[in-house]
Amino acid sequence: MTSDLAISVSGLRKSYPDKTAVDGLDLTVARGEIFALLGPNGAGKTTTVEILEGFRTRDAGTVDVLGVDPADAPLSWRTRVGVVLQGTGEFDELKVGEVVRHFARFYPEPADPVSVIEQVGLADKADARTHTLSGGQKRRLDVALGIVNRPELLFLDEPTTGFDPAARREFWELIRGLRESGTTILLTTHYLEEAEELADRVGVIAAGRMLEVATPASLGGRNTASATVTWRAPDGSLGSERTDSPTAVVQRLSAEFGGEVPELVVHRPTLEDVYLKMIGAQS
Ligand code: ATP
Repeated sequence: MTSDLAISVSGLRKSYPDKTAVDGLDLTVARGEIFALLGPNGAGKTTTVEILEGFRTRDAGTVDVLGVDPADAPLSWRTRVGVVLQGTGEFDELKVGEVVRHFARFYPEPADPVSVIEQVGLADKADARTHTLSGGQKRRLDVALGIVNRPELLFLDEPTTGFDPAARREFWELIRGLRESGTTILLTTHYLEEAEELADRVGVIAAGRMLEVATPASLGGRNTASATVTWRAPDGSLGSERTDSPTAVVQRLSAEFGGEVPELVVHRPTLEDVYLKMIGAQS
C-alpha cells in the first residue's frame, strides 16, 4: 500500500437484513487531504465511515486505513485515528476540562488538554458543566475529544449540524488549522457550502455507490459549464444571456452601457446546483 494514501477502499459492500447500504464503493483519500462525503439521507455515508473507523463489519471489499485493515486493527492504530460520531456525547455533571483530561489519559501521547480546549474555542467554558453547554458548544467538545490523541486521521460525521453561521465559520477555521498541522480529515456533511469551503475533494454517494469524486470547483463539470449573465436593461427589464464566454458578454455590455452595467451578475452552477442534479438523476 502506498504511504501517500491515508485511506484506500475497493469494492466495499455492506447489507443490513432489509437494505443494501453500501454497494461496491471505491474511495481513496490522500494524506493531508480534507475529503468530504456528500449524499442524501440513507445514502450509506455513515455506514462507510463507521466501517473505516472499525466500528462496523463489512460484507466484502478491501479497506486500508493508515496501512491497517480496521476490521482487525491493533490498539496502537486506534491512537492514530480521531473520531467524531454523529451523536453528541453526554457527560452529565462533569466539567469540560475534566472530560478532556479524562479522555487524554486513554492515550500514550495526548495533546495538552488546555491547548485542545483553547483550539476548539471552549477556553471560557473549561469549568462549565457539560450539560450547560449549547448544542454548538457540545459539538466543539466532541471535536476536542476527537483530537486529544493528536490523530493522523480525523473522521467527522456531520460536525456542524445545528451550528449558527458564525459558529460554523469558526469551526471551519479550526478544521483548516488541523489540516495545516498535517491532519488528514474525512468528513460527511449536508452543507454544500461547508464542502466547498473545506474540502480538497468531494465524493457524492447515492444508494451505496460513489457517483463522482472531484474537486468542489469541478464536480459535475461545473468549471466548464455555461454561465448566465444577467443585468438591468435601460427599459427596466431584466436582460439575460447564456454563454460559454461570459467575459466577452460583459465587455460588450460594458461598451453598450458606457461603463458600469446595472445589477450585473455572472452566474455559474453552484456546487448545490450540480449536486442536486446528480442526486436527482439517481432517483
Ligand atoms: P444520513 O445522511 O441520513 O446520516 P447516511 O448516508 O449516513 O444517511 P447510513 O446511515 O449509512 O446513511 O444508512 C444507509 C442505509 O442503511 C439506510 O437505509 C439506513 O436505514 C440503513 N441502516 C443504517 N444502519 C442500519 C442498521 N444498524 N440496521 C439496519 N439498517 C441500517
